[in-house]
Amino acid sequence: MTNEQIMGIFADTAYVRTGGSDEELRCAEYIAAKCADMGLQAAIEPFAVEMADIRRESLTVDGRAVTAKGYLCSGSGTVDAPLVYLPNTDACSRQRCAGKIVLLDGRMGYWLYHDLLDSGMAGFITYDGDTHYADRDIDRRELRSFVSKGQKVPGMNINVKDAVELVRAGAAHARIELEQDEYEGQSRNVVLDLPGQREEFILFTAHYDSTSLSQGAYDNMSGSVGLLAMAEHFASHPHSYGMRFVWCGSEERGLLGSKAYAAAHEEELGRCVLNINLDMIGSVMGKFIACVTGEEKLVHYIEYMAAELGWGLESRQGVYSSDSTPLADKGVPAVSFARLAPGSTATIHNSYDTSALLLAERMQADIGFITAFADRMANAARCPVGREMPENMKEKLDYYLLRKREKK
Ligand SMILES: [Zn+2]
Repeated sequence: MTNEQIMGIFADTAYVRTGGSDEELRCAEYIAAKCADMGLQAAIEPFAVEMADIRRESLTVDGRAVTAKGYLCSGSGTVDAPLVYLPNTDACSRQRCAGKIVLLDGRMGYWLYHDLLDSGMAGFITYDGDTHYADRDIDRRELRSFVSKGQKVPGMNINVKDAVELVRAGAAHARIELEQDEYEGQSRNVVLDLPGQREEFILFTAHYDSTSLSQGAYDNMSGSVGLLAMAEHFASHPHSYGMRFVWCGSEERGLLGSKAYAAAHEEELGRCVLNINLDMIGSVMGKFIACVTGEEKLVHYIEYMAAELGWGLESRQGVYSSDSTPLADKGVPAVSFARLAPGSTATIHNSYDTSALLLAERMQADIGFITAFADRMANAARCPVGREMPENMKEKLDYYLLRKREKK
């Protein structure tokens, strides 16, 4: 793939494509068409996702309207209640939230949500953005079904600048009005098979969806381009192991595409020797990392290989917040590759994630290293990576996938 082709794909996909949207479908079809251009036939595999259309949303604080976006899938209703800012969410602080609308720093995770529900929270407000940026953008967030577990209270998201002003002014009372239609929709994975000499295969993944304000160039059309380039490479280069490429939908909504893929293909995953996941590569600035959800030997193998090739890399064992995780949870050893830019040079999940964060030459180099690694694994006399998921990784997966609660 040439530099011009790489940047051409970023230009072609410079639009928002949230999980389950028409634009996500448009991008899935685009990826399938790119495969077809290379003479490869990809299939689009749909899966069900929860969707919502907002009919009405408003937030009033102390009688003044505050620009806000309602949380998708957080139910409908009006809550008129005292407002409390909870900078801490320990048990003592939570005593203050009974019957109130709670303003929170950070994200609404599963454990926090249920702690707050148990404490009597009537509604919630979160914020995003950056006080140092000029914009007043607000991300359209969702109360994920695996967070709410069907227990919904309405939530609103606001810009950080308004949140700071509310707290500074000692805001005391809020009214949330939210009406939405919730229904089942479809998201999709794009799947391409390159059969090898043997039944076992290597699974490549990268998500192609974006969040509500983002063109998702860095996160993660970059990894999606990486998969296209690797498919093109291995279509004309030998590989003893089979290869399957999956461009995952709805990753930003909680790894929904890879979870759906793992559930629908559970039996075949018994023949999957390795998952190679790409999530954010090719940034102008930033360091290259490998995160292995599998035996520690693979961490060291990648370090040795990088040293041999003169490639700068930081390798570690861990659970990566990306599509590798549902696969690792099915027992597939997984490695995620990424180039992590300092936040001051590249930011994601907002309107600043454009192709301006990326460099074609860096894309080529990152793809080159990952391809070299994949080539070794795919042509190994026997893929050496142990299938057994180590206990420390199983424990981390339990925490990440909310089966166990980590003690603070
Ligand atoms: Zn991502």
